[in-house]
Amino acid sequence: MPELPEVEITARLIGSATAGRRIESAMAPGVNALKTYDPPLSATEGAAITGISRRGKLFVVALDNELSLLIHLMSAGRLQLFDNRASPRDRTSRLLLRVDDGRELRLREFGTKQRAWVKLLRDDELGAEETLAALGPEAWPAPPSLQPLLDAPRPLHGMLRDQRVLAGIGRSWVDEILHEAMLSPFKRASELTDAEAERLRQAVVSKLGDAIAHYEQTIALPIPDKLPMPLTVHRRNGEPCPRCGDTLEAVFYEDYVMCYCPTCQTDGKLLKDRRLSRLLK
Ligand SMILES: [Zn+2]
Repeated sequence: MPELPEVEITARLIGSATAGRRIESAMAPGVNALKTYDPPLSATEGAAITGISRRGKLFVVALDNELSLLIHLMSAGRLQLFDNRASPRDRTSRLLLRVDDGRELRLREFGTKQRAWVKLLRDDELGAEETLAALGPEAWPAPPSLQPLLDAPRPLHGMLRDQRVLAGIGRSWVDEILHEAMLSPFKRASELTDAEAERLRQAVVSKLGDAIAHYEQTIALPIPDKLPMPLTVHRRNGEPCPRCGDTLEAVFYEDYVMCYCPTCQTDGKLLKDRRLSRLLK
C-alpha cells in the first residue's frame, strides 16, 4: 500500500536516476491504465525526463516538451526502474518507458484488480486535473495548521485518510500516526483539545518524516516489489504495544484493518469489531 513516504522515496530514487534521460519508446500494455488519449502516449517519445515529483500519493513525471505523466499507484501499483526490457509475459506491466541508457521505467501492478492509472497531460492542464485539483495540503514536510480540519465532527481515522483534507496518508500510516499521538481512531476531530491537536500535527510530521529517513537508509534501486515498511502498530494486532506493552488490538473492515493500543489510545476500551458484529447479526 504505497503512501506518502513510499511514493516520496520512489520519486527521489527514480527521479535522480532518470533525470535528463530521453524516452526512446513508450507503451501502455495495461488495457485500462492510460486514461488519456490526447496527446497520444507516443508524444513522450524523444522527450527527456526533467524530474519526478510527488503530490500526495501521486507521481508527476515532468518532460521537457511541456508534457507530464501523472501516475497513481492506487493500492497495488509500483513504479520501478529496471536494467532490462520487460518480458512480454509480465502481466503486471501497465506502463513501460524505455529510456536512452537502456533502462526501463515501469508502472507495475500486483493483485487481480487493474486500478493504477496514468494520464499524459499538457503542463498547463495539470493543475486542473481532477485528482490533483481535489487534493488537500500536503501532510509532509510541514502540514499547515490542522485547525480547519479540526472543526469537523469526523472520526480521526477517516478524516486523516481523506485526500481532500490532507494529502498522502493512507491505511497503514494513519494507525502509526494516531498511536504516536495517543488518540483514538474514532475520536472526532472537533473534540480534540488544543494540546491533542498539536500532538496530532507533530505525529503526522514525525511519523512520515521518520519513515522517509528510514527508507533513505535502507532502500536503493532497484526498488523491491514489496517495500519493507517500518510499521510498529499497523497489522501488528496481537503483538505488544511498542510504548506500553499492552496487546495491540484491531478492528477489521471489509478491505482493511485498523490497529490501535487500548491503553495508549482508548482509555482501555476495546473498539467494536465490525467484522464480528456483522457475523453475529
Ligand atoms: Zn500502548
